[in-house]
Amino acid sequence: RQPLLEVKNLTKYFNVGGGFKPKRLRALNDISFSLHEREVIALVGESGSGKSTIARLIARLMPVSGGEIRFKGRNVLADEPKHASRDYRSLVQMIFQDPFGSLNPVHTLGYHLERPLMLHNKARSDEELRARVHELLTTVDLNPAAEVAEKHPHQLSGGQRQRVAIARALAPEPSVILADEPISMLDVSIRVGVLNLMERLKEERGISYLYITHDLASARYFADRTMVLYAGNLVESAPSEELMQRPAHPYTQLLLSAVPDPTTPMTGEFKARPGAPVLIDPPPGCPFAARCPHVMPVCREQMPGRTQLDASRWVSCHLHGQGTEAAPQKAAEA
Ligand code: ATP
Ligand code: SF4
Ligand code: MG
Repeated sequence: RQPLLEVKNLTKYFNVGGGFKPKRLRALNDISFSLHEREVIALVGESGSGKSTIARLIARLMPVSGGEIRFKGRNVLADEPKHASRDYRSLVQMIFQDPFGSLNPVHTLGYHLERPLMLHNKARSDEELRARVHELLTTVDLNPAAEVAEKHPHQLSGGQRQRVAIARALAPEPSVILADEPISMLDVSIRVGVLNLMERLKEERGISYLYITHDLASARYFADRTMVLYAGNLVESAPSEELMQRPAHPYTQLLLSAVPDPTTPMTGEFKARPGAPVLIDPPPGCPFAARCPHVMPVCREQMPGRTQLDASRWVSCHLHGQGTEAAPQKAAEA
């Protein structure tokens, strides 16, 4: 099965510090994963680990420093021509943490939805436009649609505003939604409702999600698979349930131990632990070495490769064998 979206060896540097000699901050290092049709992947990791940067690079909101992004096999970074890139931008949509920030207070909600519909040629007349706006509002359970369309952002609750943001992302008929902490600013009581809506859209419209979160319980609830990011490096990927039950990477174990109760839906948010990772001139070896309770001499010298634990999960840690670097030898023997 061909993946919908493939990210290969993605790297991102930012220049920070200003002046004549800005420093290079390595926000992402060698990120590779793929997202399949109707799949939900959660991306977890503490603040500053690079989660939003991954989403922004995939959404093409900023240039990559290295690596590839493929959509249905096509290299989207090669697509500079405007038309091809608009096509990709309609198929891959992003929603953000703060729906209020992205809605203009002077405009009605109807206006917010008309814009993308017109931009992506989804209506040919005012009647059709109005009908599509109402259909989108109904899809996200904002009823009665005709009434809601006339309202302004401040007349809605946070949860309702996030539903509008989702409706707006749906307007260009995307196949992938990059959801950057879509429920973290909402009241705990309404978070499940928004996740259930996203789940229904997956079923009804065949949408895949990259779901960014600080909330492991919601990752377990919503995502088929969870990937763990540490200091710009993916360190583990596994089916969500297995990751929570049997975390293999010492950092994943630490994250889970920082959660009060990972079985209670939507309250299992972890807080960062002391010991900030080094992103400017990072030392060689494992990025977690400075904080890892199991650190060994090899960890400070060699970056661990990916070790496939079974068909659906892998980990990058020297505790779990030699990683993929050792694989070619095995292949040669076979
Ligand atoms: P959070 O959970 O707080 O949202 P995050 O995992 O989304 O964090 P990113 O926002 O992707 O983290 O940031 C990753 C790193 O890149 C951080 O060290 C951040 O300071 C840095 N960074 C992000 N955007 C920029 C930028 N435009 N210029 C310079 N540095 C940046
Ligand atoms: Fe810890 Fe070494 Fe594994 Fe890194 S590679 S997580 S330092 S044991
Ligand atoms: Mg972020």
